[in-house]
Amino acid sequence: TSYGFKTVGPGEKQGLVNDVFHKVAKRYDIMNDLMSAGLHRAWKDGLVSWLNPSKRAGWHVLDVAGGTGDIGFRIVDASHGNARATVLDINGSMLSVGEERARKRGLADNVDFVEASAEELPFPDETFDAYTISFGIRNVPRIDVALSEAFRVLKPGGRFLCLEFSDVEMPILDKIYEKWSFEAIPRIGKMVTGDGEPYAYLVESIRKFPNQENFAAMISRAGFSRVSFRNYSGGISALHSGWKL
Ligand code: SAM
Repeated sequence: TSYGFKTVGPGEKQGLVNDVFHKVAKRYDIMNDLMSAGLHRAWKDGLVSWLNPSKRAGWHVLDVAGGTGDIGFRIVDASHGNARATVLDINGSMLSVGEERARKRGLADNVDFVEASAEELPFPDETFDAYTISFGIRNVPRIDVALSEAFRVLKPGGRFLCLEFSDVEMPILDKIYEKWSFEAIPRIGKMVTGDGEPYAYLVESIRKFPNQENFAAMISRAGFSRVSFRNYSGGISALHSGWKL
């Protein structure tokens, strides 16, 4: 199935992505639960436990495309409140929802929010102990640029972790998943937000994203060492890891 999205340049792609997340910001968290049937929670737990956040005070993680703050909050919680998280997103609407959630959770002192692009991080070299990005990198127009930026802002010894939809490698699951994503997801999107088109776009972007091995190779090309990945739910999503050594 194709929704006929033409090939677009980096600027145009970013414009489309921004429209999607401005429209859905307020309902983003509930949509996430509905569309992944709650699975995104387990996948995110997987990211946080692989990261194993340090309990050292001041340990600082940058969560890029952090949207409404989910990953940042989980990391601070897992560090027993010792870590700091900077949640960066290109979309002010998503960040506003995140800031409100941080206040309600009493995490405002540990989490800050920065509006910027993954392709141009407004931080000096070697600032962060870890860099995470969850369901964000496939939205970034120039993935190689985002990966080089990740490498640049990490301290030596820093960790890179990326959670993203990936290639389903199980014979029957792939058919079910295809039906779910191309038929159910835009329909749920339309029901909850009144517009199915943005979700059709997101599903299309999953299809275009490189598979596990190819994405691992891109991470290595950006300079990272010991690159590896694990699949979740038969490859519906994959978690990639790399180190700046
Ligand atoms: N990380 C959150 C999670 O896992 O629930 C949110 C993921 S949401 C699917 C994707 C996010 O990527 C959106 O908040 C969007 O604004 C952000 N985004 C898209 N392009 C970006 C860019 N170039 N730089 C930073 N964030 C970007």
